[in-house]
Amino acid sequence: MQGRHFLHIPGPSPIPDRILRAIAMPIIDHRSAEFAALGKEVLDGSKAVFKTKQPVVIYPSSGTGAWEAAIVNTLSPGDTVLMAETGHFATLWKTIATRFGVEVELIPGDWRRGADPAAIEARLSEDKSRQIKAVMVVHNETSTGATSRVAEIRKAIDAAGHPALFMVDTISSLASVDYRHDEWQVDVTVSGSQKGLMLPPGLSFNAVSEKALAASKSNTLPRSFWDWQEMIKINAGGFFPYTPATNLLYGLKEALAMLREEGLDNVFSRHQRLASACRAAVKAWGLEVLCQNPAEHSPVLTAVLMPPSHDADRFRKIALEKYNISLGSGLGKVAGKVFRIGHLGECNELALLGALSGVEMGLAAAGVPHRSGGVAAAMAEFEGSESGNQAKA
Ligand code: PLP
Repeated sequence: MQGRHFLHIPGPSPIPDRILRAIAMPIIDHRSAEFAALGKEVLDGSKAVFKTKQPVVIYPSSGTGAWEAAIVNTLSPGDTVLMAETGHFATLWKTIATRFGVEVELIPGDWRRGADPAAIEARLSEDKSRQIKAVMVVHNETSTGATSRVAEIRKAIDAAGHPALFMVDTISSLASVDYRHDEWQVDVTVSGSQKGLMLPPGLSFNAVSEKALAASKSNTLPRSFWDWQEMIKINAGGFFPYTPATNLLYGLKEALAMLREEGLDNVFSRHQRLASACRAAVKAWGLEVLCQNPAEHSPVLTAVLMPPSHDADRFRKIALEKYNISLGSGLGKVAGKVFRIGHLGECNELALLGALSGVEMGLAAAGVPHRSGGVAAAMAEFEGSESGNQAKA
């Protein structure tokens, strides 16, 4: 197919040319002084993105590995943890914990909002014997487009006076949505390379608090590849305990430079701007955004409900074949019922408008009932935020 492919799934996100060029460099000796300088730079530089002064561990794996690492470094078989059913990814993280013999108490959810801080506080307050060892939350639920209020969940844990560890999955929010590992006293932040960091899949992260490190000295789940203690000891010299993903680390160095140049706050407000334009388009089409709580609308992706008896996957297939655009599929219990528009990473106004044109024409081509004018509504939203900015200046 001619022209550029519009990759608008909610990650992996498109890789900027600067990062592709940085990765396409000759590999170096991972035991050399040159590598140690790179290792130190990316291990240290990543801290700014997590907003932490504590160790950040980098694994050569997809995000699922970092999920597993958070569990096996802190918990023991038979431990109880509290999770919120925000969507497909919370459900997958729960499955991993269960496979390790951890008892997961799940606060049920309807997949249309984030984790409820009040429900977490209520459950922790009831837990007088302090059986719950960790609260585990997905910050940005990539399957639904709902972003949980992590700062409020921290307050809920504190209000209950509960000593549980706090673990947060930021795989689809890091470097796109405001996030503060230290300020919000998160004990383990889990992340991945292929979304806000604009890298290929293949790196994953754990930012680790002192409390989590202390837990890792006495918990009993076995681990080897994922072990923090070994990793952090060897990272001190800029090295890794096994062969690192050297070329992805070149890419990470470049991604961190790009985020520094734009400024994290500007990155976050760009994502907010793109997301509200996308929601304006959905509204103009007469379709419904899956996330029902405006305070939790995701800056990273928008999940759109199909009208009843219209199959989202058929629509996505037609849009791909006719207009060369990839949209995200519905996952788990919303499969076929929603499609997801990714607007994260390198995305800007025109890239989003192109994608929205593809959606609008795709809806028409697939015979999905809708009103036209979504792209115009998104443009008006951009113009409105521009004139708002000028008025403020
Ligand atoms: N958590 C969230 C929120 C995700 O979006 C994803 C992947 O999309 C994962 C976890 C799993 O990460 P990976 O597919 O990189 O293993």
